[in-house]
Amino acid sequence: MECLFCKIVDGAIPATRVYEDEQVIAFCDIHPQAPLHLLVIPKEHFNSLADTDPATSEPLLGHLLKVVSDIARAEKLNKGYRVVINTGPDGGQTVDHLHLHLLGGRHMGWPPG
Ligand code: AMP
Ligand code: ZN
Repeated sequence: MECLFCKIVDGAIPATRVYEDEQVIAFCDIHPQAPLHLLVIPKEHFNSLADTDPATSEPLLGHLLKVVSDIARAEKLNKGYRVVINTGPDGGQTVDHLHLHLLGGRHMGWPPG
C-alpha cells in the first residue's frame, strides 16, 4: 500500500486527528494555509473526486460534506470558511486520495491561484 493518506487512516503515519467515524477521518494539514486547515478524507481509497462511483458514492460524498460543516460549526467559524477539493493535475491535486480541505480563521481571496 503506497498511498500516504491510507497510511494515515491505518495509523502507519502519524497525524493530528480531530474527528473520526466509521467512514471518514479529519486531521490537521501538515502545511497549514490558514489558522485552521483540516483535511477530511474517506477511509476507503478513491484516487480523487473524479474516481468516485456515480452509482454508489452519493451517501459518502454527502457524509463528507456533513462532517465538514459539523467541524466548522464546532470550531465556531462563524464568519465563514472555504472547502476545497483539488481534483487531478489541473486541479492541483498532489495526494491521490480524495480529500476535502477545510480552511478557516482568515479571509480567503478569490479567484484562487
Ligand atoms: P492537495 O494538493 O489538494 O492534494 O492537498 C494535499 C495536502 O496534503 C496538502 O495541503 C499537504 O500539505 C497535505 N499533506 C501532505 N502530507 C501530509 C501529511 N503527512 N499529514 C498531513 N497533511 C499532509
Ligand atoms: Zn489512499
